[in-house]
Amino acid sequence: MTDMITQVVSCDDSPAIARATAILRSGNLVAAATETVYGLAADATNDEAVKKIYQVKGRPSNNPLICHVLDISMAESLVEVSETAKLLMEKFWPGPLTLVLPQRTPTQIAPTVSAGLSTLAVRCPNHPAMRSLIKGSGLPLAAPSANPSGKISPTTAEHVRSGLDGKIEMIIDGGATDLGIESTIISIDQNDVIRLLRPGTITSDEIADASNKDILDNNSNHITAPGQLESHYAPDALIRLNAKTALAGEYHIGFGEVKGNFNLSETGDLSEAAKKLFTAIGKADQSADKIAIAPIPLTGIGLAINDRIKRAAAPRPQTDTDTDHHLNSNGNE
Ligand code: AMP
Ligand code: MG
Repeated sequence: MTDMITQVVSCDDSPAIARATAILRSGNLVAAATETVYGLAADATNDEAVKKIYQVKGRPSNNPLICHVLDISMAESLVEVSETAKLLMEKFWPGPLTLVLPQRTPTQIAPTVSAGLSTLAVRCPNHPAMRSLIKGSGLPLAAPSANPSGKISPTTAEHVRSGLDGKIEMIIDGGATDLGIESTIISIDQNDVIRLLRPGTITSDEIADASNKDILDNNSNHITAPGQLESHYAPDALIRLNAKTALAGEYHIGFGEVKGNFNLSETGDLSEAAKKLFTAIGKADQSADKIAIAPIPLTGIGLAINDRIKRAAAPRPQTDTDTDHHLNSNGNE
């Protein structure tokens, strides 16, 4: 693919948003802020456009994408929305909850979005940048994180530019993302069984409360998408988890009282830590060959943070953590 000029524009720039929607309608890619991480969007009904996402990211073709919709009614035109699914959409949308549901047939959605699966992951973003693209184009947008496959997810327009400059036409800058980690993903099957496929800032407990149902943890016996087997986020540096102190040569990412070179949250606030996580890993990766990360509590949003740092550490055989690096790898990029 020949390199192009990547324009970075503000999400308040209406003429630029109009140009972005034209780019999408012509089958090309635009990156945009969402409340979780920056997404790389394409017209989900155009197979050639969706293929460009896989190509630009270097994403394995068996790792399905999330389809972004404006509202519940757009979701209902694409997937079978059970009563439980609707309840959760009403409670958490727009917001960082992705639901994997049976696709309607026939469907306008390109088969590559779901990597050929009969289900589709739908999410309704709550950020004006991505919302204006869906609204302006009138299209459902397939959008994974806007980073090269295997790298950490981007939480600023600058992160996107450093990974994809010259490969996409436009980046819609909406500032640093509010939440900092990717959406919670659940599946709801034909028997109304809810499974957590990827933890996020909306916790399993909140979903259980809202649905009045038990949430099953996804595990390696219940792989519903091939992408979920993969470990991602690998920075160049080696990562050591549960580190209260740093060893020689390590960049130490702290949390709470474990100060570190960069502290995710001095007050021990897990939302703040999630928001800063990928910036911290990026900074650490630029500063040292080895990274140590302080213990993060395994409660609430801490579960999502631990999921991401475990996967960042996963390809490294010699860390001193007692966690199983291959547990619960849900395949993100
Ligand atoms: P990303 O777009 O990088 O945030 O990753 C999206 C993730 O959503 C994939 O890696 C899958 O784990 C999950 N996913 C997307 N679509 C489906 C689906 N139809 N069934 C199960 N999981 C899915
Ligand atoms: Mg991703």
